[in-house]
Amino acid sequence: MTSWWYSTCSVCCKRTRDLFFICNDCVQMFDQINLSKACLRCKTPLPAETTQVCGACLKTTWHFEHLEIPFYYNAMARYLLHRLKFYQCLLVLPQLRKLLVQHLENYFTSAHPEVIIPMPLHRWRILKRGFNQAHELAKAVGYAYDIPINSKIAIKIKHTRAQAQLRAEDRHKNIKASFKVHLSKPLSHVLIIDDVFTTGSTANALAYQLKKAGIGRVDVVTLFRALKLF
Ligand SMILES: [Zn+2]
Ligand SMILES: [Zn+2]
Repeated sequence: MTSWWYSTCSVCCKRTRDLFFICNDCVQMFDQINLSKACLRCKTPLPAETTQVCGACLKTTWHFEHLEIPFYYNAMARYLLHRLKFYQCLLVLPQLRKLLVQHLENYFTSAHPEVIIPMPLHRWRILKRGFNQAHELAKAVGYAYDIPINSKIAIKIKHTRAQAQLRAEDRHKNIKASFKVHLSKPLSHVLIIDDVFTTGSTANALAYQLKKAGIGRVDVVTLFRALKLF
């Protein structure tokens, strides 16, 4: 049966009726995080079913309370995110937004952040890319769960080298003091949204600054959890 509203999957080029331009077969290729086999704090996979935290988390002070991530950063995730960030292919955005919004249903039944803070990009990078992918994801979450987005609370003041090109230990140095936080009114609970969580140093640095500004609880949501550097 043919129909005028068939479109083409932007991953495998098959015809699809999915209005989000990625067919259902390709959506299955996302690697969902199995929470019963992941570190409670950072969601890194652990060898056996456990309720423990990983070795790295035992040595790390996380400044955020809760981390929510639906998928590991596999080849499929990398392909789509690279198309979005480096080729400005905005066609993949609706699908990524839909996956994130769906995943957060449980989180929002018990958590009620007052404001969503998209992970800020330095203005030079926004000028180069044309948009902030974290802000684009945050908009959909804010709309779906009726939470205001505020991209003025935190700004990136240091134009750091692309984190993905750095080794883990250099990321911590690179990100140090790179955010400036300004609250126009007191807040007790905020949610940071970003695209990928790798070492967590960026989210942790921002959470630290937000806590220092007097916010009681900071949660972090990212779409993907990277396990190694690409
Ligand atoms: Zn497909
Ligand atoms: Zn961990």
